[in-house]
Amino acid sequence: AGVHVFDAVRDAATEGRYALTQHLREALDRHEFKLYYQPKLDLASGCITACEALARWPHPRRGMVPPDMFITALEQTNLILPFTLWAIHTALQQRQTWRARGWNIDIAVNVPPVVLMNPEFLAFLDSRESLDGVTLEITENVFLGDLDRLAAVVASIRARNVGFSIDDFGTGYSSLQRLRQTAVSEIKIDRSFVKDMLASKDDAVIVHSTIELAHNLGLRVVGEGVENAETLARLAELRCDSIQGYHICRPLPPAALEEFLGRSAWPPARLAPAQASA
Ligand code: C2E
Ligand code: CA
Ligand code: CA
Repeated sequence: AGVHVFDAVRDAATEGRYALTQHLREALDRHEFKLYYQPKLDLASGCITACEALARWPHPRRGMVPPDMFITALEQTNLILPFTLWAIHTALQQRQTWRARGWNIDIAVNVPPVVLMNPEFLAFLDSRESLDGVTLEITENVFLGDLDRLAAVVASIRARNVGFSIDDFGTGYSSLQRLRQTAVSEIKIDRSFVKDMLASKDDAVIVHSTIELAHNLGLRVVGEGVENAETLARLAELRCDSIQGYHICRPLPPAALEEFLGRSAWPPARLAPAQASA
């Protein structure tokens, strides 16, 4: 698969910007992109309460192209907006399918800062009947822009009951000050800290103090990149709210994920009977 990916990128580079844009536009029009889903385990209940949508591009000739290879290209064109709207729409449909099975699973969708700050994006959110159970994951460099405008955008998103999560927390430009100034609801501690927290004292301290700090600000904390039971146990001790990682489940296409949820030691959260009929 590595060779395929390399080819895709090299081809794209030699194709030039215009050809690449055409290529991505066609992929979008032809519904070639797919969403995989990775569970988030809620440590208090032991249930899977949410899934993050992660994009894949099963290319007919180039194999499975991972998101790092095409998200940047989409960002460099105006295609990232329609792509993100498609992802939210698709994830909401998936949530409905799960609800029909009695599972109450929230969804998280990755939204680049450039999309978040686009007025058309807010107009799209306004046009949706329901955004119940949706969280937007935004990377920290969103704080690099105009903070006042950001605060206004986040406030209007939160007013619609949509969650706002800071992704890859600890790697970029966040600060206590900035988190306080915006109505962020959750942070996700970057995998690089979680990965080494058992071996490295420094990383353990960063994870511990980040959780305390976030809780003091009333934020939920997700630990990402949990790859073993020991890390899960340590994060549970530190009162981390949710975790995500290969130890629970890799990102899976919908059918495989349903199968996983059906037999998992961590059951999916259930709808209350009243909600199920609604
Ligand atoms: P991210 O949002 O930080 O997503 C987490 C990445 O870590 C995913 O890679 C996931 O498969 C991987 N991961 C999860 N658990 C583990 C673990 O235990 N160990 C290790 N080593 N890795 C783990 P993926 O799916 O390749 O996505 C990479 C990045 O591409 C994402 O990072 C996100 O920034 C971006 N991305 C993916 N889908 C979308 C999308 O629909 N829209 C946008 N704008 N960006 C996306
Ligand atoms: Ca994410
Ligand atoms: Ca992340």
